[in-house]
Amino acid sequence: MTKVGLVGWRGMVGSMLLKRMCDEGDFSKISPTYFSTSAVGRTYRDPLGVEHCLRDANSVEQLGEVDIVITCQGGEYTKAIYPVLRASGWGGFWIDAASAKRMDDDSIIVLDPVNRAQIEAGIASGVRNYIGGNCSITLSLVGLTGLFRAGLVEWMSMMTYQAASGAGAPHVKELLGQMSAVGKRVDDSLADPNTPVLDVLTKAHTAARASDYPTEAFGVPLAGSIIPWIDSDLGNGLSREEWKGEVETNKILGLPPRTIRVDGLCVRVAALQSHSAAITLKLKEDCELDRLEALIRDAHEWVDLVPNNKQETIDRLSPAAVGGSLKVGVGRLRRLNVESQVYSVLTTGDQLLWGAAEPLRRVLNIILNAR
Ligand code: NAP
Repeated sequence: MTKVGLVGWRGMVGSMLLKRMCDEGDFSKISPTYFSTSAVGRTYRDPLGVEHCLRDANSVEQLGEVDIVITCQGGEYTKAIYPVLRASGWGGFWIDAASAKRMDDDSIIVLDPVNRAQIEAGIASGVRNYIGGNCSITLSLVGLTGLFRAGLVEWMSMMTYQAASGAGAPHVKELLGQMSAVGKRVDDSLADPNTPVLDVLTKAHTAARASDYPTEAFGVPLAGSIIPWIDSDLGNGLSREEWKGEVETNKILGLPPRTIRVDGLCVRVAALQSHSAAITLKLKEDCELDRLEALIRDAHEWVDLVPNNKQETIDRLSPAAVGGSLKVGVGRLRRLNVESQVYSVLTTGDQLLWGAAEPLRRVLNIILNAR
């Protein structure tokens, strides 16, 4: 049985990964070892009810005993452990949710509905690092696979609306804590329908400015607000999250750098789970909407193409509607009136699934089948 070491299983992505592996019966194909950076030696009861003694995620010797490492621990962990593990002579497969190794020449960004051939060729040729892509990029590529496959996209501008859980477990708990703090403050006022609305708003703002309002993870309030910067500041007006858009899109598609130009703004919103992106697409030719719809809808089974009308859009194309689903919603497709060959489209999908955990568990299965 293939020995698989799981690192970062307690976090946001890791928890979803374990749930999906459980749902899909992946544990029957592997012998799992659970690693931890914070609770080494403690007992962990896995989703199947089996007890494990947690091993040390910082021990190269212990990691070196497994055939495949899957880590959802984050980029700092990858940067610290990966080189030392390889330097020790370990030749196993490294599957990683973090961005640290995505752009390295010895890694493939995994998104098998889009680049399965690249993954299979990589395994056959000895590539040992398989990295999940950026959540917003992977969701948009899954949703718009048909257009990319047809070679229609010249450039795209992405305006993202990214959920709190995209930043990790402590962040989603903090957003809920903020919502709860505001809720407690305005509950009495809401119970009385005659309370003037400005009084309710004042109470909500006061709650968000209180010294005990939880902002440790995000640094600023998110409930009732947005944070228009995600990941680090590259110093040139661009966030690292925005930089990932173009480099990862072209790498996933197997294209030379800058073949498809991608830019935009990445914004954290107070959604809990599921990212959305409002995308402006410049196509290489003028296309009838019927043709674009067919290409998008027929690309694979994970697209829910939503007709561009109000009711179906608000019912089906939102984080609330798609959370927990493997379907990526694609809608608001129309020609923009700014110039020819320019279209709008909005994608919404669960970033913990296609944006994070799902490509990892699927590449695990592809690797297991190839062994
Ligand atoms: P996370 O929730 O912060 O978890 C990472 C680690 O933090 C956990 O494995 C755990 O390690 C520790 N941790 C500290 N406080 C915790 C708490 N209250 N609850 C649970 N774990 C806690 O991070 P993540 O969102 O899963 O992201 C992991 C990696 O995936 C990152 O590199 C991220 O950029 C990438 N990624 C995330 C998403 C997403 O939607 N969240 C999408 C794509 C890629 P110990 O158990 O060892 O203490």
